[in-house]
Amino acid sequence: MQSLLAGNWKMFKTVREAELFARGLVAELDIPPDREVVVAPAFPALCTVAAVLRGSAIKLAAQNVHDQAQGAFTGEVSAGMLIDAGCEYVIVGHSERRALFGETDALISRKLSAALARGLKPIFCVGETLAARERGATLTVITGQIKEGLKNIDLGDIGNIAIAYEPVWAIGTGKTATPEQAQEVHAFIRNALQDAYGKELAGELRILYGGSVNSGNIANLMSEKDINGALVGGASLDAGSFSEIVKYKEV
Ligand code: PEP
Repeated sequence: MQSLLAGNWKMFKTVREAELFARGLVAELDIPPDREVVVAPAFPALCTVAAVLRGSAIKLAAQNVHDQAQGAFTGEVSAGMLIDAGCEYVIVGHSERRALFGETDALISRKLSAALARGLKPIFCVGETLAARERGATLTVITGQIKEGLKNIDLGDIGNIAIAYEPVWAIGTGKTATPEQAQEVHAFIRNALQDAYGKELAGELRILYGGSVNSGNIANLMSEKDINGALVGGASLDAGSFSEIVKYKEV
């Protein structure tokens, strides 16, 4: 299995900044063959970054998608438009979208279906809040998010999804889950997927960790059995740190 290292640029970088940054990554990033690298710029920069990445090993993702194919949905972007812009992946259900934009499990489920129907590969985010962790509800929350999110997905599409476990308390806070804390949840997710879809398919699905990943903690995280990649926010905005993350060496 190739590990997946995805950079979420969030609402940072103008089109010109994104273009220059992507050019630098294409020129400098040395991607080991067992890894897949994805970057997710903001919508306005997608086409420009797609042109820069063309012919390189770096893939393009969007940060969000609407659940309908087209229509009177001012301000929204469909899966078909993202494919047209050059995206291969899309982040769905990021905790910032759940918390700040009211995205529910039901909406996220429809977004996953819409993305898959157009051949976009979702990076499907799940994760518990600090309050949920402190009351011992982490695994219940994760179970609910995964069950609801995947309930309408055809078996044949499951293999195109990567799941990102992103504890909300670790995103942008500098507090990373320890490799052991992350592995516990990743193993739980793998088991749940195994119960639902069988051992073979569950064994092939990539489960990424996200939450204050940086060049100093990536190696220990990636050394855990069920951690198959990382969704990186802040540290993906700097070429040096993203490059160090991509080049991690398992310990
Ligand atoms: C993210 O945006 O998905 C994320 C994990 O952010 P950060 O790495 O900054 O915590």
